Amino acid sequence: MDLNGKTALVTGAAGGIGIAIVERIGHAGARVAVADRVMDGIAADAHLPGDLLDPTYADGLAEAAARQLGGLDIVINNAGAITRGPVAETTDADWSLSLGVSVEAPFRICRAAIPLMASGGGGAIVNTASCWGLRPGPNHALYCMTKAALASLTQCMGMDYAHQGIRINAVCPNEVDTPMLRSGFAKRGFDPNKAVEELAETVPLGRSAGPGDIADVILFLASDAARYICGALVEVNGGKPVS
Ligand code: NAD
Repeated sequence: MDLNGKTALVTGAAGGIGIAIVERIGHAGARVAVADRVMDGIAADAHLPGDLLDPTYADGLAEAAARQLGGLDIVINNAGAITRGPVAETTDADWSLSLGVSVEAPFRICRAAIPLMASGGGGAIVNTASCWGLRPGPNHALYCMTKAALASLTQCMGMDYAHQGIRINAVCPNEVDTPMLRSGFAKRGFDPNKAVEELAETVPLGRSAGPGDIADVILFLASDAARYICGALVEVNGGKPVS
């Protein structure tokens, strides 16, 4: 999967899956712009720190990446925020955070990136959705809803921009061993190490996913090896479709 000569923007670049994406895309030869709130120690060709809840920042990310890298061929909308609990326990702040990071920001970034990609002859966008956007998950109503929205946005944009040579797809992981998963266990009073071990027993492949398991699929979808895949929601779940 050769990305030599390509330019890429990755959001959520400092997170568990984000770090693995940046490593793989860079290793495949792309020049990479990374975006997150804090990105200490992350090697990349451009650093674009900021808060995706700021509409001006999200609107300007694609253009800033294109300016610093000399073009924009690939966008990975990977940042996500998880809010937990059933609807009756959900606050207005949870609503704004979930919708803002996981739906509005990818929408703003895609809206700005698509014309840039079209003027460059095409491109690839990969959104990190979730199995929990394809089917319900317990006690995470808002999170599931935002990932369902992102999945639908992906399918619709995949249809609408294919004729311009822009392939738009999403990867849909189930549980992945990252700070997001571990913080959830800790919040519920479980020992994260033990909980991740126990989780592995529920996965048909016999282990929990690591960030690299997801990043490899994102690299594939971003590359020309996936040249006929467009508007797809690709589940990466070790054989475990529901929680
Ligand atoms: P993570 O918490 O390690 O990383 C998420 C990253 O997004 C963080 O670096 C965070 O700083 C960034 N981010 C969040 N809010 C932001 C904001 N307002 N502005 C800028 N950046 C912001 O989690 P992860 O597991 O690596 O998650 C990556 C993606 O994978 C997310 O979209 C998540 O929903 C999705 N996902 C994760 C799992 C899992 O079990 N870990 C499962 C399915 C899908």
